[in-house]
Amino acid sequence: MQSDVVSIARIYEKKYSIKVDEEFILLKLMEEVGELAEAVLTLNGKSRPEKKISKKEAKKKLAHELADVVGIVMVCGDVYGVDLEKAIKEKWLKWKKV
Ligand SMILES: [Mg+2]
Repeated sequence: MQSDVVSIARIYEKKYSIKVDEEFILLKLMEEVGELAEAVLTLNGKSRPEKKISKKEAKKKLAHELADVVGIVMVCGDVYGVDLEKAIKEKWLKWKKV
């Protein structure tokens, strides 16, 4: 899945003539985390009245923003030359053995 996501980032890069480098992707991650925060506030009814949407729409928005964050993290892994699958196994899945 990571290679598919990275290929989309390359399309974005060409389409908008924006170099997806270390600085860009880290700032993009911050942007997407902000959008995720906004989605959570909306879902919890803590947004401005004009931003209110149905619970179903808010949940979908939250799912899409989570997907954006995960996707950008995958691109970060590529840009920084990190094998994310290996890193997740080392950092997270070691707890399966506990
Ligand atoms: Mg987003």
